[in-house]
Amino acid sequence: MVKPIIIGNWKMNGLTQEADHIVSSLLAYAEKNKDLAPTVICPPFTQLYHIGKHLKNTPFELGAQDCHVAEKGAYTGNISAAMLNDIGVKYVILGHSERRSEYKESNALINQKATAAQNANILPVVCIGETKEERESGQYKEVLAEQLKGSLPEHFVGLVAYEPIWAIGTGVTATNEEIAEVILFIREKLVAQYGENGKKTLILYGGSVKPNNVKDIFATSELGGVLVGGVSLIPEDFLQLLTIAQ
Ligand code: PEP
Repeated sequence: MVKPIIIGNWKMNGLTQEADHIVSSLLAYAEKNKDLAPTVICPPFTQLYHIGKHLKNTPFELGAQDCHVAEKGAYTGNISAAMLNDIGVKYVILGHSERRSEYKESNALINQKATAAQNANILPVVCIGETKEERESGQYKEVLAEQLKGSLPEHFVGLVAYEPIWAIGTGVTATNEEIAEVILFIREKLVAQYGENGKKTLILYGGSVKPNNVKDIFATSELGGVLVGGVSLIPEDFLQLLTIAQ
């Protein structure tokens, strides 16, 4: 059986002491547990280089939480995909709902960022998800279809994460049926757009994934893995996810 991928998104958390504590827990775990599920750690930019050095030659991969569309230039305060690649980043989360809402990131911008990531040999993890109102009004499939169509490049080599906004950081998790229905919907769209490649794209779920619900979530048909926020900062809980994923 293919093991689900686990992507931990630290968001804007992780001063050096906390980051070191999490990383040493991960490394100690990997020493004792061989054959881990693929696991990606996405710390904030300030910790990427430091953590990347610790994760080198370990089962863990390094991920970032955003990138700029341009390769380099006069873009004060930004980080390019080429810069991420330069320090060993293999994945980048794009279009997270927090960026879509706080920075008004459009589907078109996320699409450009995904292209920039691919050009730098980084796999984009493109997030899509509906609000509570959109789910309750029954509009969610249209919203998701529009996000998919607009955010994914013409040639897409990456992962898609379904993250219903009403489930992120709320403690409310989508049911298996809700996740399964959306995964099937995303798969249909991917296959219609990308043919054979669309069949292979990993589709993840994110939203209040915890040790006590992850087993059920993993049982969802066609689920490629999970994107985890809060729990990725709690080593005991995060390691439980890894154990359940094995
Ligand atoms: C996220 O931010 O991508 C996320 C899924 O957060 P949480 O697991 O805390 O709900």
